[in-house]
Amino acid sequence: MQQLSLSARDQQVIWHPYTQMQTAPAPIAITRGEGALLFDDQNNSYIDATSSWWVNIHGHAHPHIAEMLSKQAFQLQHIIFSGYTHPPAVELAERILPLLPEGQRRVFYSDNGSTAVEVALKMALQYWDNKGQRRTKFLAFKNAYHGDTFGAMSVSGRSVFTRVFDELLFEVHFLDLPTTDNTNDIISQINELDPATIAAFIFEPLIQGAGGMLMYEAEPLDQLLHWCKTNQILLIADEVMTGFGRTGKNFAMENCHTTPDMICLSKGLTGGSMALGVTTCTSQIYDAFLSNDKLKTLFHGHSFTANPLACSVALASLDIFTDPACAANRERIHQAHQAFLKELQLSDKVKNPRLQGTIIAFDLITTNADGYTNNIAAFLHQFFRERRVMLRPLGNTLYVLPPYCITDAQLEEVYNAVRELLQQL
Ligand SMILES: *Cc1c(COP(=O)(O)O)cnc(C)c1O
Repeated sequence: MQQLSLSARDQQVIWHPYTQMQTAPAPIAITRGEGALLFDDQNNSYIDATSSWWVNIHGHAHPHIAEMLSKQAFQLQHIIFSGYTHPPAVELAERILPLLPEGQRRVFYSDNGSTAVEVALKMALQYWDNKGQRRTKFLAFKNAYHGDTFGAMSVSGRSVFTRVFDELLFEVHFLDLPTTDNTNDIISQINELDPATIAAFIFEPLIQGAGGMLMYEAEPLDQLLHWCKTNQILLIADEVMTGFGRTGKNFAMENCHTTPDMICLSKGLTGGSMALGVTTCTSQIYDAFLSNDKLKTLFHGHSFTANPLACSVALASLDIFTDPACAANRERIHQAHQAFLKELQLSDKVKNPRLQGTIIAFDLITTNADGYTNNIAAFLHQFFRERRVMLRPLGNTLYVLPPYCITDAQLEEVYNAVRELLQQL
């Protein structure tokens, strides 16, 4: 009897995320990775042009990350984080806070981007409750994506992702992305809601990822944030995707003068090697939870909060991230993207080509409606798969978001695959 392949065995027992299991092609079985390359069980290599769902920043199987993980695994693998602490958690907090935009003083650990957002939302709500004020409304941007748990879904734009759950989500007021023209309109909308009832404003600075790699300017954002801050609306910067160099600077909020009250981090935090989430906050937020009254405690925590293995690989990732070579790589990718952007601007198959740091994105002109369910996505996925490039479009939006270690030659291969696609369409 012939032995089943890994993907065939997978298809008998596994339910994949964001996958229509009835029609999806068999998954590619990946058995190892090295730098920007992934290898399947037949030893074919693929260029990881989307950083394994935007998480991988330094490449796969990075030896420094592997070493730190292994060392920590022989020391301490896990410990309850309530009433106990450990070296990697403390060191990581000590090293992350000074890297962040001014004013962040405390680190709260959790498991992923969605939980980092949940923690920030709960901090914001309870901050006001602890202060004896009733503020329960949230502001967010249209097309926002902040995660798949219920709180995170609530502050995300209503879409095909949330449709089934819409009536169970809490109410959020969704704002247009700010431009130099509409900022005053947005402010009057917030004024109509009454700023004194709004707990917080959560946003993805400069680029909305899952919403379709939608990019917007820092200056009008900063103006809006400044107004919110003046009106005591707490600011939650969701840098889960933009953090750790993705938009060029270390954090996208470095493009704004206004500083957030809370920052959510995950994806690039461990170099994309393990699940870990972080919510940081200012001392203003933190201090509002200090009391002799136990009811003012933040009652939130996960079994694996501040897992020592995850914290130690985050430290390893920081070593690589803070080396000047990392910023140089990001700049190199940005320059290459910039040249390719000029090409895309000349194509009549492409609309709205755009670039931010290490991310280049554009929409394909199709006869179907734009958006996540556009049928071209399945075709595109297959097209690139055959060319051994891992690109996963968001509907008719294609984007390249590579690990920073991708070589010029590999990047050129990715562009070539896109060029070929544009010729064929
Ligand atoms: C991916 C993402 C999240 C959710 O992170 P998970 O780790 O997938 O739960 C939240 N916010 C933004 C901006 C993201 O891109």
